[in-house]
Amino acid sequence: MTPEIHLHVLASGSRGNAAVVEGPEGSVLVDCGISRRALLGRADELGVDLGRVRAVLLTHEHSDHVGGLTVFCNHFEGALLATAGTVGARRYLAELPFTVMGHAEELELAGMRVRAFPTSHDVADPIGLRFSTDDDALGFCTDTGELGPEALGALEGVRILALESNHDERMLATGAYPAYLKARVGGPTGHLSNAQAASALTRLVGPDTETVVAMHLSQDNNRPSVCVRTLAEAVGAEVVPGEDGRPEARTPDGRLTICCAAQDWPLSVW
Ligand SMILES: [Zn+2]
Ligand SMILES: [Zn+2]
Repeated sequence: MTPEIHLHVLASGSRGNAAVVEGPEGSVLVDCGISRRALLGRADELGVDLGRVRAVLLTHEHSDHVGGLTVFCNHFEGALLATAGTVGARRYLAELPFTVMGHAEELELAGMRVRAFPTSHDVADPIGLRFSTDDDALGFCTDTGELGPEALGALEGVRILALESNHDERMLATGAYPAYLKARVGGPTGHLSNAQAASALTRLVGPDTETVVAMHLSQDNNRPSVCVRTLAEAVGAEVVPGEDGRPEARTPDGRLTICCAAQDWPLSVW
């Protein structure tokens, strides 16, 4: 594959999510769950031009994914896209000029084909996304308790894979969360654990896969080092000291890197 699609994670985690997927003819903002000020500041830090954003796509209506959208839209004239269920789930979303997108349809945005697939989360109609050009592909999937066949099919073999790795199952089980919350987070419509993500990698990582970005890490029930180690073991990668002290893993042939997105530490993957 030739790198034509790039990922800039501005924030990832339960206190806010936003990512810019940069294509050949502009960018797409996936979720807008941080303030406009934070969005601008972090984009600036990464050298990302938000003026190139052609569309905003929402994965679902939880406030950590949509909380910053109303203010962002005061300064944005591009397309707003989400499923009918997501738009209908919050009055303030329904009042914005959304174009409803279906699961089956493939959109053309910023020089990329964009396809949605259903995820498994406790909201109306959540989705994950696959972005592709003739020569490149990126998969994006967070906030899902399970990966169904459509998700696995869409994420398989991409060059950049942004995949939720929310919690360590033992840390969640022995941690301070009340029982109902443990059941929700660890359940089939909650969040993907490190072990679930690791097991998925054995199928999803293909010969073209260069980077796996672990997404939406819990600050209470996970650690970047634990997450990277679990994912690394699944694909025969070794943990190495990453840039800026962030944990990272690499396969011995150097072809695959595993890293973590963070709540407050923006990250670019080229
Ligand atoms: Zn979330
Ligand atoms: Zn959510």
